[in-house]
Amino acid sequence: MSCCMCEKYHWDPQEVVYEAPEDGKEYCLFHAPAEHKYAAPNSNKMSIDEFNAQVAERIQEIVDLEDENACCNLRGAVFPGELSFSARTVPRIIFDSACFKGKVSFHGVVFQGGMSFEESIFENVVEFRLCGVDGEASFEGSRFAKTTVFAGMTFEKRVSFDDSVFSGNVNFQDIKCTKFLTLVSTIFSGTTQFKDVGLDGGALCISTKFNGPAYFTTREPPHHPIFFSDCVVSPSGVFFENCNPKHYNFVDQLDLSNIHFRNSPWGKKGRIKVYTEDQHDLLQPTRDFYQRMKAKYKAESNENEASKWHIAEKEAQLKLLSRPGESKFLRDTLRLYKWTSGFGENPRRAFWVLVGLLLFPLGLLIGAELWSHFAWWDFDLVKINHMFKNWLKFIPLTQAIPKDEPGISHAFMIAWQLLITLQAALFAFALRNNFRR
Ligand SMILES: [Zn+2]
Repeated sequence: MSCCMCEKYHWDPQEVVYEAPEDGKEYCLFHAPAEHKYAAPNSNKMSIDEFNAQVAERIQEIVDLEDENACCNLRGAVFPGELSFSARTVPRIIFDSACFKGKVSFHGVVFQGGMSFEESIFENVVEFRLCGVDGEASFEGSRFAKTTVFAGMTFEKRVSFDDSVFSGNVNFQDIKCTKFLTLVSTIFSGTTQFKDVGLDGGALCISTKFNGPAYFTTREPPHHPIFFSDCVVSPSGVFFENCNPKHYNFVDQLDLSNIHFRNSPWGKKGRIKVYTEDQHDLLQPTRDFYQRMKAKYKAESNENEASKWHIAEKEAQLKLLSRPGESKFLRDTLRLYKWTSGFGENPRRAFWVLVGLLLFPLGLLIGAELWSHFAWWDFDLVKINHMFKNWLKFIPLTQAIPKDEPGISHAFMIAWQLLITLQAALFAFALRNNFRR
């Protein structure tokens, strides 16, 4: 007979050291339950140090092969106590379905060819510090029961925590991922920190569940976006600090109510514009995202932020209306709305357009007067008086239009008065929006 787990996890045959009385299943040293680690059948129990020495020996056997493609199989192993590796280079190691009873610590270890901890169970604190991983790193489906730290790590290939569950606090600090990081359906139950992370290849957060507060601060702008979609965020919130929206894709993240941006450079200079706005097929969802952000800030009575998102939303809408087949009338009206008042958010612009509308007829009258006399104006007070009287005919509320004014010019004056009234209303509206903050 041989160890039942060795067969299951494709190990080289190991000596059976323990037979479970309940079902008669046989186990080798590595796969035996934590409390049944025997060097040989019917011998004394091994200490944790003795067991770890056996693990180190197994790894060393692979190192000694000096084969780049060699891989150390530790699938399904049960580690009874604290396990610690430091400052050494190891080949690709597979810890899939392993169970770590004690603290796990890897410090300054170089994983050549990557590492795999799929479906592993970490029952205690986990610390990965200053390790370099040359190949893919996978923690898919793993369970982390206590505090987990990944600090100063360098991942050269994809890192995956898909379907993992972190029950304690998690601290990803100062890590660098050259390729992308995936957190698909990952569950974070405690406080999660992504502090100064360099996500050069971007990241995927799809259906990720944040049951505790989470904080993201990126070290440098990633070359690829960080994608958020259908994430579930508890009221304790997910906070993006000092993160530029240009590097995020939130168009599929419908619930934004507990997602907060702090000290964002977006919208400080110019207007807010996210990564997806320039992607033709994502323009509509981007506009919807802007609208959701506006609604979120309105609900929080943060009018200042709401105004910034309102402008972004209208700019995106203008782009949508500028596409072939869209209503030219709506597009031009929106353009006019932008030009005359900055979408109702720029009172200064609205004021100067109003002044322009008021002074334009006067300019025309002065021009006509100068043109009809072909000479410098002689400052005739009667003429000046007459001209101002004519000008007042274009200004609302002055009631300067005489009853006998010819029909066409009467209609033009009324139309101009209407225009000034409309612009005055826009100015008042923009001013109100400005003071409401
Ligand atoms: Zn075994």
